[in-house]
Amino acid sequence: MPTFVYMSSCDGCGHCVDICPSDIMHIDTTYRRAYNIEPNMCWECYSCVKACPQNAIDVRGYADFAPLGHSVRVLREEKKGTISWKIKFRNGEEKNFVSPIRTTPWGSIRSPADYDRPDPGDIKSQDLAHEPDALNINGDLPVLNPDRLKQGVS
Ligand code: SF4
Ligand code: SF4
Repeated sequence: MPTFVYMSSCDGCGHCVDICPSDIMHIDTTYRRAYNIEPNMCWECYSCVKACPQNAIDVRGYADFAPLGHSVRVLREEKKGTISWKIKFRNGEEKNFVSPIRTTPWGSIRSPADYDRPDPGDIKSQDLAHEPDALNINGDLPVLNPDRLKQGVS
């Protein structure tokens, strides 16, 4: 479900622009409000929805689960640390979901600059930088042994 912006709620702060991994949230240069320039390229990660302080970003439900007359509303409540989704179906049925905005404390994620510089020899490694730390593993990456595969697959 790609996102769209209610321009009347947006104040142009740009948080969605900064956080969008697909770089598709832009500020309209005339109206100074954000908009999704290419919904087809939306990852549907909803980082922008979670980041928007004005609750100005909503999502368009796919026609297969929420056809004509549906709505998908998102409410971000930073003080409670929750994000709520209200799905309204065409027949009036509603489903409500509440989730934490994030599962780790604010500010607890280390930036790349907080880690030691990689060793030049690491460029030959298959691992990404700091991958064991990020995956919370000690040593080598987990491997999938053939005995864990379905019978007949090797
Ligand atoms: Fe960008 Fe993710 Fe928002 Fe889509 S849902 S516009 S990819 S931040
Ligand atoms: Fe507008 Fe929300 Fe994006 Fe800020 S984060 S520019 S208020 S849509």
